Amino acid sequence: MTAGKIPQEVEQLVCETCLKEIPATEAVAPEAVDYVVHFCGLECYEKWKKDQPAEPKDKGGDK
Ligand SMILES: [Zn+2]
Repeated sequence: MTAGKIPQEVEQLVCETCLKEIPATEAVAPEAVDYVVHFCGLECYEKWKKDQPAEPKDKGGDK
């Protein structure tokens, strides 16, 4: 029997920075964070990274 070809659905993710939809196969997912985020490219990842607080407030930083 022929079932025909099964469409390969690629999971769509959303870029954390620009909120653009990106196929999971092209998403950039940094492993340095303890939760999963995806980006359409390294540029958005860098932007997002800058927005992240470096450390939880513990030691009074010299801001
Ligand atoms: Zn993006």
